[in-house]
Amino acid sequence: MPRPKRDMPAQGGQKVGLVCRECGCQHFRVVYLKRRPGGIVVRRRECRNCGRWTLTRETQV
Ligand SMILES: [Zn+2]
Repeated sequence: MPRPKRDMPAQGGQKVGLVCRECGCQHFRVVYLKRRPGGIVVRRRECRNCGRWTLTRETQV
């Protein structure tokens, strides 16, 4: 199966309003959520349109 082209890995500079790099849609569902010590929340989100997933790291104050 054809792999999508890789440009830059999505790291840092994450914003609210995540947009899929693959198809440009903004419909993500959270596949899992992991809490780390230090108030860091890691979420794995999957695009509902093309299935591409991405990890987001958020710091909760
Ligand atoms: Zn997509």
